[in-house]
Amino acid sequence: MKRLYRGAATLALVFALFQGVFATTWFPQDFTCPIDQEKNTFMVVGSYGTYIYWWPSKYQWLFWPVTDSPTFYTCKKCHLTTFMWDFDKIPKEKIADLKKALADVKVSKSFKDYQELPVTERLEIMVKVYAVLDKDEYWWERFYRLEGYHYAREGKTETALAARKKSLEMLAKFLKDPKAKIAQKELLYISGAMKHFTGDDKGALEDMQKALETKYQQEGASAEDLKNGEAGMNERLKDYIEQIKSAKPPRLLDRSSN
Ligand SMILES: [Zn+2]
Repeated sequence: MKRLYRGAATLALVFALFQGVFATTWFPQDFTCPIDQEKNTFMVVGSYGTYIYWWPSKYQWLFWPVTDSPTFYTCKKCHLTTFMWDFDKIPKEKIADLKKALADVKVSKSFKDYQELPVTERLEIMVKVYAVLDKDEYWWERFYRLEGYHYAREGKTETALAARKKSLEMLAKFLKDPKAKIAQKELLYISGAMKHFTGDDKGALEDMQKALETKYQQEGASAEDLKNGEAGMNERLKDYIEQIKSAKPPRLLDRSSN
């Protein structure tokens, strides 16, 4: 009996460790649409760990949950689509414009579960929604990069390429701006990443090398954060340079799950 108990406890512990180390979890929650008060059930994050920062999407400087389908909420009636953290925070003064923006949106099928719609179909609606929501160019650069990720994952390589080129154009602009909102070192990592994912490995390696030689600076960061940021980015940059030169560069993982 005792042995059996111990065995079960060990199993439970192993399971808990497995969950802790590898699993991200979601659970359903009811939401009311801010536009038409329709009741929707969406998934919210249950648990995750810092391991998400080491998943392969790091090579596009994108991190779970934006790499995962439940993150993109779509109202089954008016089709309002947002990142999960924005759905119930729509400013009241934007509702009228959003209604207009959504008026001609058609979805590929009626659905009960929003995840029946492909992520890229939801992203297309988000382009219209966020055009109303006054997002800055840093927001859009990340959004285009995210489009690249999800279109590639769905095998739509041409659309993915076009999105990544848009991201790259914006990054080139940020890199020339001494007041850029993102640290130069990080911008160079992202720019190098997008060059790699658009087939320009020479440019990618140049950006990564330049990033290694650039000091990590971020306004308002403590000395400790700067030191950790510097070390962390250098580790990632060295790994990326090695990966680009390897037989299986990150670009080839384009359609993998994370
Ligand atoms: Zn709605």
